Amino acid sequence: MQVLVIGAGVIGLAVARAAARKGHEVVVAEAEAAIGTGTSSRNSEVIHGGMYYPTGSVRARHCVAGRRMLYEFCATHGLPHRKCGKLIVAANAAEIVKIESLAAQGAANGVEGLELIGGNAARALEPELVCAGALHSPQTGIIDSHAYMLALRGELEDAGGAIALKTPVTGATRKSGQWEVMFGGSDGGTFEFDAMVNSAGLRAQSVARTIKDYPAARVPKQVLAKGNYFSYAGRPVFSRLIYPTPMPGGLGVHVTLDLAGRMRFGPDVEWIEKENYDVDPARADIFYERIRTYWPGLRDGTIAADYAGIRPKLSGPNEPQADFLIDAPAQHGLPGLVQLYGIESPGLTSSLSLAEEVVGYLES
Ligand SMILES: Cc1cc2nc3c(=O)[nH]c(=O)nc-3n(C[C@H](O)[C@H](O)[C@H](O)COP(=O)(O)OP(=O)(O)OC[C@H]3O[C@@H](n4cnc5c(N)ncnc54)[C@H](O)[C@@H]3O)c2cc1C
Repeated sequence: MQVLVIGAGVIGLAVARAAARKGHEVVVAEAEAAIGTGTSSRNSEVIHGGMYYPTGSVRARHCVAGRRMLYEFCATHGLPHRKCGKLIVAANAAEIVKIESLAAQGAANGVEGLELIGGNAARALEPELVCAGALHSPQTGIIDSHAYMLALRGELEDAGGAIALKTPVTGATRKSGQWEVMFGGSDGGTFEFDAMVNSAGLRAQSVARTIKDYPAARVPKQVLAKGNYFSYAGRPVFSRLIYPTPMPGGLGVHVTLDLAGRMRFGPDVEWIEKENYDVDPARADIFYERIRTYWPGLRDGTIAADYAGIRPKLSGPNEPQADFLIDAPAQHGLPGLVQLYGIESPGLTSSLSLAEEVVGYLES
């Protein structure tokens, strides 16, 4: 089949690679001048364990399966990554109850090695930490997401696939059993494909609305939740990722590490109406307050506004958390079309597993 993948973020690249390796002729159309410039380069680069998501959800399934596949991929492709582990810390007795339920949910989701430990045991692992107890997740790690996307691109091209940069998809129609797709950009025009995957991230809904025959009522609402990050100027004090208990819309302002061992903080949750990536330095006050609940040693003047990413959510602040939404031919009735909505965290971790499922729908 001739397959078009819309968007060269981590999801589009993983889907395109999987489709090309199955023998399809694959083209990825990317609106920007380079791969991975969207949400895929504005995240925490954490390989998640899989305990946060309701058992049986699409997110739980692909996070756990995708994590295992991603570590294997990192090992076989020599990609920079580190299984550093993580502690989800409870500040008080009420939060102990929360980490206990995360531990139970993680076990039900198939997350390996989770262990509830007391405050002293947590401090033995991370001496700067103050907490009443913690959930240790040894399977959590970090990855160089750009090296990962370059490796996906390499394998896509080795399997005969191609990426067209500066080539936005502007519309599509079903004609004579094929998808006739319109492209902008200098090499624009109209080309035909047997199948099409919409993995345009924050633009998935607007791309879906340009696909004639696809019912407008199926396009879900989009909610934007910005996650701001602050960098840390001092010497790193933690060797594992440190997370508080989750907050509505996100996982709480946590300590992430990069592969050089540097610490950074974030992301928080800022509900926004319009895409913008400015980080307001005034948010530092709330960062200090939140981080000091588990690291009182954080000194004034050591954090600075850094970067932000935007979660493409399907649910708002006071609604139950939506799952990843995969709208496939069996649901909408149009052959060869898969629409991906709401692929927020843990999309990076889930990418290889999600890609297999999507390619399966193209072939059905
Ligand atoms: C703050 C934050 C922290 C996160 N942390 C983690 C984490 O630690 N671990 C984890 O597993 N996940 C994390 N995630 C989730 C992860 O980053 C995303 O799930 C993933 O990057 C989504 O990839 P994508 O390919 O769907 O989207 P994107 O990377 O946004 O790619 C979509 C692409 O489509 C292109 N496009 C748009 N419109 C068109 C068009 N009309 N034609 C052609 N191309 C188009 C865009 O230019 C873009 O390149 C985080 C997300 C956020 C926001």
